[in-house]
Amino acid sequence: MAYPKVQLHIDGTWRAARSGKTIPVLNPATEEVIGEVAHAGRDDLDEALEAAERGFAAWKKVSAFERAKLMRKAADLLRSRADEIAKLMTMEQGKPLPEAKAETLAGADIIDWFAEEARRAYGRVIPARAEGVYQLVVKEPVGPVAAFTPWNFPINQVVRKLSAAVATGCSIIVKAPEETPASPAELVRCFIDAGLPKGVAQLVYGIPAEISEYLIPHPTIRKVTFTGSTPVGKQLAALAGKHMKRVTMELGGHAPAIVFDDADLDLAARTLAAAKFRNAGQVCVSPTRFLVQEKLYEPFVEKFVAHAKAVKVGNGLEEGVQMGPLVHERRIPWVEGLMADARQKGAEVHTGGERIGNKGYFYEPTVLTGVGKDARMMNEEPFGPLAMIAPFKEFDEVVEEANRLPYGLASYAFTRSAKTANAIAAKVESGMMTINHLGLALPEVPFGGIKDSGYGSEGGSEAIEAYLNTKFVSQAGL
Ligand code: NAD
Repeated sequence: MAYPKVQLHIDGTWRAARSGKTIPVLNPATEEVIGEVAHAGRDDLDEALEAAERGFAAWKKVSAFERAKLMRKAADLLRSRADEIAKLMTMEQGKPLPEAKAETLAGADIIDWFAEEARRAYGRVIPARAEGVYQLVVKEPVGPVAAFTPWNFPINQVVRKLSAAVATGCSIIVKAPEETPASPAELVRCFIDAGLPKGVAQLVYGIPAEISEYLIPHPTIRKVTFTGSTPVGKQLAALAGKHMKRVTMELGGHAPAIVFDDADLDLAARTLAAAKFRNAGQVCVSPTRFLVQEKLYEPFVEKFVAHAKAVKVGNGLEEGVQMGPLVHERRIPWVEGLMADARQKGAEVHTGGERIGNKGYFYEPTVLTGVGKDARMMNEEPFGPLAMIAPFKEFDEVVEEANRLPYGLASYAFTRSAKTANAIAAKVESGMMTINHLGLALPEVPFGGIKDSGYGSEGGSEAIEAYLNTKFVSQAGL
């Protein structure tokens, strides 16, 4: 299947960069250059900003009812094109085809949900102190949005931001990932083909820092939304703060996965291994620190290692492959650096621990024990297929370890006790916790972190609120 020359979308037109510059796109499974993506310069960004300004002026006047109808059409187009789009995603990102297809179809559900939810962006009437006075709270779209999204979920990370903006009557400039540009472009195409007026959604690629440094301070932009690493998120949040822009930050995590003595061992090992090796561990909510209570510790390690060994790694386009490569070359030395550090500090590697072959950025599903708290991988987000398992004795001890890091995105727990489930949910400092199953990231539930994992939510009614201003109107009859 041919990989497209990915273009910018600005003011209703698909086109090359004004400079004609492009960036090569690689297949991480083969290291072959499979295509190219247009590289936006300052002139392209200026056109995108002007278009977004005009797009917002027109789109905010369209009713939520009409916006929702158009979005439902976009969702249907995405569903009907999912097979082709999933192939592009696997070619550029590496994840297994079924995962790419599931992400694409989930994208359609996200569009539907935001379309409907924005129809219920109710204000309220507050009882007044004087007769004949009406105190109204009205919700209005925040304005043109600048969105920055990463390569690990090329559609999911864009669709949440694009859908919230379009549903609420905002316009948006999306800077999508240069590593995985084709599938998000196809997502935007579904909106355009469904009839989205020009100027509402712009799509650009280029040098991330150049684009964010130009767009965030620009007076046209009223809101900034970013998904990526904590260090970059802090820089962008500081810049946005300096220019008083609304911000949503969905940043890194280092999720504790807590297995209590009374847990269903098979369920815990199976469920957590699936979560760990999904997308080769390149997931912000990936479980990373596996904390297992003493009685189950050894059998858990044994079962988890067996699951890790059974994972079929390979080119995501091949049937039966369960884990693809890391997304780009620079992820290999990163993971190798974490491993060398852990080994040097005395960790035991039960399985994995090496790059696979020398073509494609494949790394073995890896399980370690005896990784000290001073090891880099116990402090820095691994963002790779590394699972570190450690035993614990007491409830308070595991809470302390779970909360030791500045991160606070996802957390996991397994227990048969409702009392323990309630207690652990109350004590762990994280934006999300899922107990006895994997229940994160549906469109209707909040998705976001606390502490260094960011702020704001990309799911649930909170995600709509993030794109709305609240206006208060007090009106007295004459
Ligand atoms: P990176 O920090 O260079 O980039 C992460 C993402 O941020 C990329 O999409 C990149 O394009 C973007 N980015 C970087 N600098 C930017 C800037 N100044 N302005 C706007 N966007 C910018 O690292 P990487 O090697 O691509 O990814 C590794 C790290 O990124 C991981 O360790 C992980 O912590 C984080 N990450 C997090 C998520 C997530 O879902 N939260 C997704 C991808 C990557």
